[in-house]
Amino acid sequence: MERRSALKNIGGLFLLPTLSKVSSAIEKKPVLRIAHLTDVHLKNQFNAPARFAKCLHHVQAQSPKVELILNGGDIVFDMNKENIGTINEQWKLVKDTMKNECSIPVRYCLGNHDIWWNEDTKGDVFYGKRYAMDKLQLVRPYYSLVQNGWKIIVLDSTHLDIDNTWYIGKLGQEQLDWLKNELQNTPKTMPVMVMSHIPILTALLMIEDDVVNKWTMLGGDMHTDTAKIINLFYQYPNVKLCLSGHLHLRDKVVYNQVTYLCNGAVSGAWWEGNKRETAPGYGLIDLYDDGSFDEQYVSY
Ligand SMILES: [Zn+2]
Repeated sequence: MERRSALKNIGGLFLLPTLSKVSSAIEKKPVLRIAHLTDVHLKNQFNAPARFAKCLHHVQAQSPKVELILNGGDIVFDMNKENIGTINEQWKLVKDTMKNECSIPVRYCLGNHDIWWNEDTKGDVFYGKRYAMDKLQLVRPYYSLVQNGWKIIVLDSTHLDIDNTWYIGKLGQEQLDWLKNELQNTPKTMPVMVMSHIPILTALLMIEDDVVNKWTMLGGDMHTDTAKIINLFYQYPNVKLCLSGHLHLRDKVVYNQVTYLCNGAVSGAWWEGNKRETAPGYGLIDLYDDGSFDEQYVSY
């Protein structure tokens, strides 16, 4: 008797999703499949170039096909305090790998490791974000595009801290004004997806070893202007999904109907295994015409 009733229950469980799938299939249609690859940190060590190529092949073998790759930043291993020779080598590796191993269009976001903050180079024309922007052919470090009915907004998270020595996550007034304007000029019916390198909102910073009675959160780990950005998004219900990386860990926070999705790193722990429990991987996201989406984290 017990077994029979258990089987009956399983039957019921299987029936429900099938029915809801049929009804939702009538209402919405997939319009764009994207792969979110973040924190690749490419360098010629740990077999990273071949492993990154494997990841790119994995993305290109997906069915249905991925139409757009979003690179979430920290494209190269690190150019912060490096000399120009090392930096040139890392970017050559990025260029060659992308040219030889990937045929899907890619849009890039700047990460903190894609910025040249070497005191000795302050007067150099490529000091700061200019070098990476030049390599990526970006006119501005933040921009938007419209594809298949969705607006994709790419933000520039990384700015110098108040003491000018290191970075924190924020937009700054100019970019915030631009973002306000951008949302204002987007049709209310057009769903919006945002990509930043540093998370706008995440619960991951609470995962800390040896907490005694408080947590330490650094302004470089999450946007410091989160309240402002969230308040802005609250005025635009067409903002649906915010992608980020930077922490090399994966989590999903839903607040005010907006999903803040932080994906794990393509490099895992900088090409040396998992970062805590998160394996190297990428985000696979299906966008629908009604503003909804499906997402999964794929280990390659
Ligand atoms: Zn980062």
